[in-house]
Parts: sequence; structure tokens; C-alpha cells
Amino acid sequence: MFHKIIKEIKKYDTIVIARHIGVDPDALCSQIALRDSLRLAFPKKKIVAVGSSSIKFAELGSLDKTEDYQQFLLIVLDTPDRKRIDFSQVEKADSIIKIDHHPYIETYAKIEYIDDQKGSTCEILMEFLKKMRLSCTSSIARTLYTGLISDTNRFLFDSTTSSTFEIVSYYLKKYPFLLSDVYKSLYMRPLKEVRLQGYIGENLTLTENGVLYIELSNEDILRFKADSASAGNMINNFNFIEEALVWVIITEDIKNNNIRVNIRSRGPVINQIAEKFHGGGHAFASGAKVSCFEEAELLIQDLDEVCKEYIKVCEENENNIE
Ligand code: AMP
Repeated sequence: MFHKIIKEIKKYDTIVIARHIGVDPDALCSQIALRDSLRLAFPKKKIVAVGSSSIKFAELGSLDKTEDYQQFLLIVLDTPDRKRIDFSQVEKADSIIKIDHHPYIETYAKIEYIDDQKGSTCEILMEFLKKMRLSCTSSIARTLYTGLISDTNRFLFDSTTSSTFEIVSYYLKKYPFLLSDVYKSLYMRPLKEVRLQGYIGENLTLTENGVLYIELSNEDILRFKADSASAGNMINNFNFIEEALVWVIITEDIKNNNIRVNIRSRGPVINQIAEKFHGGGHAFASGAKVSCFEEAELLIQDLDEVCKEYIKVCEENENNIE
């Protein structure tokens, strides 16, 4: 499959690299790293990475200004479905390649490389660059590592395997970079965000079956002078709370006129519920969008049901063992 991807890349003079809406570090870093590597390998081609940028991730690298492209190959990274591609000229692309680690949703590309066992799209690209002997530098390696670290939450999830450590070790040895630079660019935050996190911790609600959640209005966010995305981005800071099987941050987003929902789980599968509420994602890490807090309450009820079912199955399994 990697050979097929390279063959397709060689056919086009213009290559546009896109990713999903609601940018996150794995999506952004995979775009930037692939663009920079392909530019070194194919200096005569026009290769750009497009999509809306975010001030929060400005340190991770910059995207290109979107132009009116003609006769181009579109490479879409980290995006399982067409409607979530953050690029308005998808219809115009002469060919599309998808490289992704999300569970399959639909086919929209001529070539689709999907490995949903991988913890990040950046890890897939690490293998792609290595196997295809594409150019790399310490800066590209650091960018790939940043995306991997963000999506695996520092090797926390079961998608981290021995091959993850092998590939990381390969890049660190061959293209050395400072790990502390990566963590600084990902985790440095203003005091107001820590204060907002404290507020979230103080005001979480726990349902009967272990859904821990908070609803944040625009006024709540403004009170801490934070932006609406910052609360949702804290979702992983609430891992490992004994009482919670599923935890959720629900944030009003006035700019986009909707309510953003970030969901994590340590057992019950949540992406099917997220899909029901205009969202999706991975089995244990999903997101959704709802139109009002009443709809968010329905989502919480569904998640509570999933937790109830999960607890029942766990108890049955325990009884069977006894
Ligand atoms: P987040 O909570 O934003 O870090 O997202 C967790 C996972 O869910 C990521 O894989 C996202 O791509 C996915 N996701 C988040 N929001 C949505 C959405 N509205 N629709 C589909 N997938 C989503």
C-alpha cells in the first residue's frame, strides 16, 4: 500500500494535504511533517498543508494559505469521513489518498490506508517515511513525535505497543531532538486555564452509573477569560477518577453556534453514542456536537445507559469466574 501511495504522489505536480475540522495536534503535526518531508523529496512539486489554524497550536508549525488549486492530488490525514475534511475544494481533487487511524466510516478516496490499531496518524507516517526512505530531519521527527505523544496521551493507551517504542526509538536515534521542547509546546498553558480546570473539578456531576460531566456556558468560559476550545482540551486531565467510567466536558461555543462535547471512557464503548449526536471518534475517545444543553442531557442519559450495561456485563463475567 505504501508503494501505491508513493506512485500516486509521483503523478502530480500539486499536492494538497488536508485533515479534519476541529484541529488537534495529531492531525496538524501529521500534515506539517508529511508536507515538509515530501518537499525535501520532491523539491519541484508544489506541496501545501491547508485548513484552519489555531492560535493554541501555533508553536507546532504553520499551515499554508489556501489558494484555488487545479489538477491536484489531495492527501487527507486523520479523517475517517468526507464531511469532516477541513478543505473546501475536495470535489475538485483529481485523486484522493486517505491515511488514517480512526475506525472505518466510509470510503471517499482512491487509495485508503487505515490502521485503526495505531494510536496516532503520526505513528503511521513514521512508518511510511521510514519504509519509503523519504527525507526526514530532526524538526520533522519532532513534529511526528509531538502528534504521537498527543494522541496517545504520552503512551497511556493500549494502542501503544512495542512497535510504537521501536519506531520512536529509531527516530530519536537517527534524528535527535529535545523531548522537553515537545512537552513545552504541548503542555504549557496560562494560569487562567488552570483556574478553569479547578472550576471544572469543583463542579463535576456524577450520574448513577458512572458518567462524570460538566456543562459550561459561554458565561462560565468568559469568566475565566478562556476560549471555548480550552475546556474540552482538558478532557484528558480528568483520566483515572475512580468513580467515573465515562467523563464528559460539554462547552457552549458561541462562535460556531453549537455545543461541543468531549467524551472519554475507560471501558464502555462510546463512539456509537457520539455518532448518534453528530459526532464520532474512537471506541474510548470521542467527540460530538449538540445544539442545546437539553440535547446534551439526552447524550448523558445514553452514556449512562451504556455504563449501566457495561457494569452488568462485568458483574456477570465476575460471577461466571466464581
Ligand atoms: P477530542 O475530544 O476533540 O480530542 O476528539 C476525540 C476523537 O473524537 C478524535 O478522534 C476526533 O477526531 C473525534 N471527534 C471529535 N469531535 C467529533 C465530531 N464532531 N465528529 C466526529 N468525530 C469527532
